[in-house]
Amino acid sequence: MKQIPCEVIEDLIPLVIDGVASEPSKALVCEHIKTCDSCREKMGTLPIEVLPVGTKQTVLKRTRRALFWGGVLLLLCGALLAASVINTFSMFYNLIGLPILGAFGYFLFRKWSFAVPIGVFFITCLWQLPQTLAPFFSGGVTSAPWWSFFLASGIMALLYAVFTGIGVLIGWLLHIAFRKEREEHDEEKTCN
Ligand SMILES: [Zn+2]
Repeated sequence: MKQIPCEVIEDLIPLVIDGVASEPSKALVCEHIKTCDSCREKMGTLPIEVLPVGTKQTVLKRTRRALFWGGVLLLLCGALLAASVINTFSMFYNLIGLPILGAFGYFLFRKWSFAVPIGVFFITCLWQLPQTLAPFFSGGVTSAPWWSFFLASGIMALLYAVFTGIGVLIGWLLHIAFRKEREEHDEEKTCN
């Protein structure tokens, strides 16, 4: 095939990046940058979305790591917050907050996200511990058996864990939907 001038390729590069180039134009650019370093570089100096796959992944990995630790921190704060609103806010807020926490946990931990509801369960139990143990130290006579206090806390914590679990499930479903869409999008845009 006759070598296409770099000027022509340069004109086409933005169109390929925006995903609006026709198939023949895209094929021309992809073919050209395989052998032309300067044009490949031009594609490489563009924003992150259009960088060649290798570079893109390195930057994404770094961004993901930062996002991950930021997320872990937020998740911990969220779990503590969720635990602290027990018996102070109405159940309505928890019905919304815990699934959000769960969905967030899913995107953070992926296959380990089953640990999020378990974590919520234990944090909730722990948070309620002073309240659970209060009757034992108050000196007041209670007719209820000792285990009934733990049972009440346990049921509450279990309920919270279930709500969080629903959120994890929602996150998983969203992830599948989003990933499919993104894969199709990437395929259209980049050279293979
Ligand atoms: Zn060129």
